[in-house]
Amino acid sequence: MRQKIVAGNWKMNLTYPAALALTDEITALLAEAPAGPAQPLVVVCPPFPFLAGVGEKLPKGGPLHLGAQNCHQKESGAFTGEVSAPMLASVGCEYVILGHSERRQHFREDDALLGQKLKTALAAGLKPIFCVGESLETREADDTFAFIAKQLKDGLFHLSNEEFAQVVVAYEPIWAIGTGKTATSAQAQEVHAFIREQVARAYTADAAASVSILYGGSANAQNARELFGQPDVDGGLIGGASLKAPDFVAIIRSF
Ligand code: PGA
Repeated sequence: MRQKIVAGNWKMNLTYPAALALTDEITALLAEAPAGPAQPLVVVCPPFPFLAGVGEKLPKGGPLHLGAQNCHQKESGAFTGEVSAPMLASVGCEYVILGHSERRQHFREDDALLGQKLKTALAAGLKPIFCVGESLETREADDTFAFIAKQLKDGLFHLSNEEFAQVVVAYEPIWAIGTGKTATSAQAQEVHAFIREQVARAYTADAAASVSILYGGSANAQNARELFGQPDVDGGLIGGASLKAPDFVAIIRSF
């Protein structure tokens, strides 16, 4: 069985005290709420300045793991204001989100740059959560599958088999992010199955069966169970709803 994962992307929200309080609340609620048969691995992805402090609060050996929202493509050097993958690993990060549509859109991150970031993250021992997803325009033009296939090929499939085994894929339709418009479970399942099929072609059937593919885009406590019930949906990358501990924990408990 492949790993079920729920990751919370806090984006550029909260202050340090609020981030610590949210971490405590999630931890406490998780300890209270009865777990179902499938226990997902949980990743919280706070902003950079909160990482070390939030990481220290996560109970060792528990379901909660630490992730970052981005890293620089170089290991170190004269890049004022940037944060490297080895720095993230050194404060206890295990995961890093790469290729989020907000980074592609607002920071012009393209597949060539993301390729370098993936390599640097993997070399530092981080597991990338690599995001793909189409715009509304692409979906309405019936180009979703071709678009996702290209994002996977250009962005991800240059990795070796060993490198790819460390990757988590997130399908995040841009039209569903922060809009309150969730993909239907059928729409999500269809694209997740397609992504898995592309992985089987690029790598092996085993790699396809093992890779966790998360859904992201207005996932919440109400729709998570239905989304996670799809055969190729292995969990979620949660934005807005990850900032409210009761909602986030309800999502975690939706398996
Ligand atoms: P959302 O964001 O859950 O607020 O739609 C998801 C994401 O961007 O990762």
